[in-house]
Amino acid sequence: MLARQTRMRHVVVAGGGPAGTALAIELRRRRLDVTVLERTDYGGFRIGETLPPQAQSLLAQLGAWEAFQRDGHAPSPGIVSLWGEEAPYENDFIFNPYGHGWHLDRAKFDARLAELAELQGARVCRQTVVRRLQLFPDGQVMVEAETPQGPTVLAADFVVDATGRAASVAQKLGSRPLALDALVAVIAAGRDGRLADQRTFLEAAPHGWWYAAKLPSGQAIVAYFTDAPRLPRRRQDLQRAWSEELAATKLIGKMFGAAVGDAELRTVAAPTARLAPGDGPNWLAVGDAAMSFDPLSSAGISFALESAERAADAIAQSLLGEAEGLAAYRAWLDEIFARYLEARTYYYRQVVRWPDSDFWARRQALPSAGPLPALPTR
Ligand SMILES: Cc1cc2nc3c(=O)[nH]c(=O)nc-3n(C[C@H](O)[C@H](O)[C@H](O)COP(=O)(O)OP(=O)(O)OC[C@H]3O[C@@H](n4cnc5c(N)ncnc54)[C@H](O)[C@@H]3O)c2cc1C
Repeated sequence: MLARQTRMRHVVVAGGGPAGTALAIELRRRRLDVTVLERTDYGGFRIGETLPPQAQSLLAQLGAWEAFQRDGHAPSPGIVSLWGEEAPYENDFIFNPYGHGWHLDRAKFDARLAELAELQGARVCRQTVVRRLQLFPDGQVMVEAETPQGPTVLAADFVVDATGRAASVAQKLGSRPLALDALVAVIAAGRDGRLADQRTFLEAAPHGWWYAAKLPSGQAIVAYFTDAPRLPRRRQDLQRAWSEELAATKLIGKMFGAAVGDAELRTVAAPTARLAPGDGPNWLAVGDAAMSFDPLSSAGISFALESAERAADAIAQSLLGEAEGLAAYRAWLDEIFARYLEARTYYYRQVVRWPDSDFWARRQALPSAGPLPALPTR
């Protein structure tokens, strides 16, 4: 009995993106034993690179701010948007108390957080995929994973789904991410368009919207967001439609078209979604696995970090036998999602140029009640 009381409780975190590694740091601070299982070695392309100025305080809280400043992420001095109006609107971060935002080297950002988690004493197992889970009535969890050395089984007291939008661990436990729309991004990362401009560019279009920026690598990134059913199925048709839509833009095509003209397109799902049910007695979800936002908000990474801190409290309390922690986390998620939906509706309702467009009509139909919440836009 004494051995059971003094044993350090073990939490397995599936997924080593920003939510998983930030959670590992927070759990180590609460003196819990932590293993992060991450499918990649952080070497490949990672999506999501705009970080708003407000994220500075979250990084500082995590103890990651100093390393972040040394890692060469590119400052983003503001946003130029062709959104509600026909003319471009400039939103400088000059009056923001935190200063400018950033265009991240996203792979480096995620890898750095994993290193910081290791420095705090967490084990981060790279190139390791979670395959199966078993929850036992006594609260124990068995996690089966595939490592580069072969299959392994870990015993844990609590398991966390930080696998991103797929929520693949929660799905193994009977939950589902419920999507509110069918948003997809069709992305081209091209060469440097000799642009000195480090601002983020945003432009509404008849059936979606465009985003463009210059990454720290010098590459230009251009993404078109629309509803999945609108995309042609054949690759060459998609390439042609994408180029035609880009050429029809007023701002982004002229600035970035040459830089991404021959770039290969990647398509990724980007719907607003919420996991249901979102937790159990010995598991919960953080970051995109818990809920994923429209990338228009640029809120995904900040939410990943914030949800990690909240979840760490919930897990620590739960392992002490106090169920209130999980209930408080759930209530916080409900509140964030409600505020997010209000903000999403507010921003989509600003675009009234295409009254016959289903893309805009669907997003404008959601209820938007109460004061405008402080959700950063790109
Ligand atoms: C097109 C697009 C643009 C975006 N732009 C922005 C932006 O500009 N700013 C912003 O803040 N957010 C943006 N986002 C959202 C942002 O990328 C996410 O909110 C953020 O990455 C969430 O972090 P996460 O750790 O929850 O999930 P992820 O970053 O998705 O990390 C999940 C991790 O789990 C690993 N994994 C998955 N399955 C398994 C498994 N079975 N076993 C082990 N490991 C597994 C993955 O390899 C990955 O490392 C964008 C999203 C999209 C789709």
